[in-house]
Amino acid sequence: MDLTLADFVLFVLLGVFVLVPFLAVVSRTLHARAEKRSLANRVICRLCLHAFEDASHVKTVDCPICGATNEKGRSRRLG
Ligand SMILES: [Zn+2]
Repeated sequence: MDLTLADFVLFVLLGVFVLVPFLAVVSRTLHARAEKRSLANRVICRLCLHAFEDASHVKTVDCPICGATNEKGRSRRLG
């Protein structure tokens, strides 16, 4: 099989057309995963609506502002 320059360019173009959407999907997936993880740790106080992050694995967490106990993982998605 002899590879001409035109074939080579075609292969490169095909590779780019395959690679770019692939990379876009990968980066989007990674971004979504990071966002999901930060959302999972995000707690929004049901009393004062203060949003804070809590990386511990307890089910309830106390608000640092008003001290109200909030259930994790049930916070509404704001934005
Ligand atoms: Zn609060």
